This record gives sequence, structure tokens and C-alpha cells, in this order.
Amino acid sequence: MGQNPLQKYFRQPKIFIQLPSLGLYYPPGLVQGDVNRLPIYGMTGMDEILVKTPDALLTGESTVRIIQSCCPGIQDAWQVCNIDIEPLLTAIRIATFGEKMSLSRKCGNCGAEHTYDVDLTKSLDYFKTIKYENKVVTKELSITLKPLVYKDSNQFGIKNFEIQQRFKQMIAIENPEERQAVLSNLYNEIANLQKQIYSLSIESVETADVKVEEHAYIKEWIENCDKEIFDLIGDKIGENNERWAMPSNKVKCSECEHEQLVNMTMDHSDFFGLA
Ligand SMILES: [Zn+2]
Repeated sequence: MGQNPLQKYFRQPKIFIQLPSLGLYYPPGLVQGDVNRLPIYGMTGMDEILVKTPDALLTGESTVRIIQSCCPGIQDAWQVCNIDIEPLLTAIRIATFGEKMSLSRKCGNCGAEHTYDVDLTKSLDYFKTIKYENKVVTKELSITLKPLVYKDSNQFGIKNFEIQQRFKQMIAIENPEERQAVLSNLYNEIANLQKQIYSLSIESVETADVKVEEHAYIKEWIENCDKEIFDLIGDKIGENNERWAMPSNKVKCSECEHEQLVNMTMDHSDFFGLA
């Protein structure tokens, strides 16, 4: 088969974006092309069908497939850093539906339901102004962090959701001893999840004379380090997560003039809910 005469009518890139991670945390070859100018295509009809498949949504499968379809420079989106996910989905949303996105939210004061238009190019611009802070320095140690890959952050998100559900169910247990047992189990699971997240978020730990990069050593150290250092790492991870969330928008209720901040997230709810 020769070159398809219809090729020039294939979808074309609609916008080009700079990956916020600048590709710094990626193994060679994961991103093909210039990380400062990655072409983003609009979604195909198939992608839109996927967007409406609830099972694929929950597992993160939709997010991965859509990124791979609309950003062909990325062949394995499970390995994309979580700090690149929201910006990529924002760009795909712009490439498919344009710069404006409507959000439905209830007014926190009078309860009136409103639809707000959000300018997504502003969100993309915001991501250009922030930096991933990767250093935690103590008297004796210098710890270098890295963003989680989507596969891990998505799995942790699912696990966290499950734990929260079980917290809610726990309240219904009438026997106090039984409830206490379930509760301490849940706390253990949260602590374990935290340790896993922290150890996967650490690229290296440097002492005065050695730099440790082996994951197994780092994991063991996390399980045995001082609470003070553990908390410092947690704070830094928390700060980064907060900074790298989609910026919130200030809106005003037309019924009661009440102003509030509207949060959104492109991964899962807002991107997929309104497609
Ligand atoms: Zn109101």
C-alpha cells in the first residue's frame, strides 16, 4: 500500500505545549520530540467514547489512552510524571473543545446552581510559572525528591479512596472493640501507604560521604527514620501537590453576590464529566 492520499486530511496538532516537568524525570525515549513544543491533537470519536466509559475512568485507563492518542510523542502515559498530567489533559481539552470550559457548581451561601466559564489557557499559563521543589535539606542529609509517575499516583489515589470508604463504613460498627480493631487496621494501612508514597517520591539521599539512589535502601530508611525528617518530606510532597493542582477560579454568585473559589481537576471529574 502506498501513501494514503487522505493523509493530509488526518487530524493535525492544534496546539503545542511545554511539558512542565521539562522531561527532567523521564528515562530516555519516553517522550519523543521536543519537550518544549509537544504537539497536542484533539480527541478522535473513539477517544470520546472512551471518555464516557466509567470503568476505564476509575482505573485511570481513559486518561492514559487519551494522552497517548492526543499526544503521540508519549507512548506510555502510565510513566508520565503526575505534574504533567493535568497540564496535558488541559491542553487536550483545549485542542478538542476550545479554550473555554463550563463548570457547574453550587453557591456555598445560597445553594443556587451556576455554570461558570473557565479560561483554560490561563491554567496552562499558570503551570509555566511554578516550579517543582525537589530538595529537603537537614543538618546531616540532603534528600532529592521526584514526582510520582502516573501509574503510582493513580494507584495510590484508588487505594486512598478505598480506605476513606472503609472509614465511613466503620462508623456503623456498633461493638466498640470491633470498631477499635478496624480503626487501628485502617491507621496502619494509611501509614503504610504514606511510606510507599514517600519512598517512591525520593530520588536520592545524600550524606556527607555517600549518595544513595537504590530504592530498597531508601525504602528501608523511610521505615526507620526520625519522625521529624519523615514529616519534612511529607510537608514538601504536600506543598508540591498543592502547587501543581489546577488553579482555582474566583467566581461570584449572581443570586446573592457571594464570592467563592471554584476548584477543578482535569483528571477524572471535570475533564470527563462535561465532554
Ligand atoms: Zn449565592
